[in-house]
Amino acid sequence: MSDRQRLSQLIQAASRVAVFTGAGISTESGIPDFRSPGGVWSRMQPIRFGEFTGSEAKRREAWTRTFSGVARWVGRRPNAGHYGVARLVASGKARVVITQNVDNLHQDSGVPAERLIELHGNASYAVCLDCGLRHELEALKQRFDDAGEIPVCRDCGGLVKTAVISFGQAMPAQALARAEAESRACDLMLVLGSSLQVHPAAGLPLTAKRSGALLAIVNLDATPQDEIADLLLHESIGEVMEEVAPYGWGVSVAQ
Ligand code: ZN
Repeated sequence: MSDRQRLSQLIQAASRVAVFTGAGISTESGIPDFRSPGGVWSRMQPIRFGEFTGSEAKRREAWTRTFSGVARWVGRRPNAGHYGVARLVASGKARVVITQNVDNLHQDSGVPAERLIELHGNASYAVCLDCGLRHELEALKQRFDDAGEIPVCRDCGGLVKTAVISFGQAMPAQALARAEAESRACDLMLVLGSSLQVHPAAGLPLTAKRSGALLAIVNLDATPQDEIADLLLHESIGEVMEEVAPYGWGVSVAQ
């Protein structure tokens, strides 16, 4: 039996799958891993949260980066891996998708917002740091390009920032607590494209294992959790997901 067939069996046998995704699922959409050579942080210093809130020059620099598309998110489309995950969710097999990604590609592939836990926020829109009001990037870009206006909240005048969790910014406590609860409650954790080197990602598979779940990891490179995994595939996520959750798969499960 191949490893993909074994993964298929693990998924079929599970009743509550928690999917955990990282940069590796989106590299197949052409989005480079931030931390990899050639990724964003090998070319420029991240702007820390305190720099953003404390300096107009840093805010201007941050927005210039966002609007110039330097992180290469804009226009990217979900790939076979995202669509396979969406089928797992649509079938009811996967209850939740926990992601470290900020590229909105799980939503774009059809995963409902209430099934998604974004640990690092979302780069496709902005929020007011004071009142939380959502702002769309397109309107902000227009005023930035036309008048050099650094975005502020149209309601309260507070600072507006992309909804990504920056370095130096607190993790979203509610999302993290929910991710930990789902990790304890699942009977299979399926890790897709995370190097599991960044907290809290690294802790979630351990939590799942301690709570009695099986752990399957699909990642091109080795991870620090490989030795506790029940199944390990160093293969393309898109190809694996097309095989273990093929088109039409969710429908037959749901019926
Ligand atoms: Zn506001």
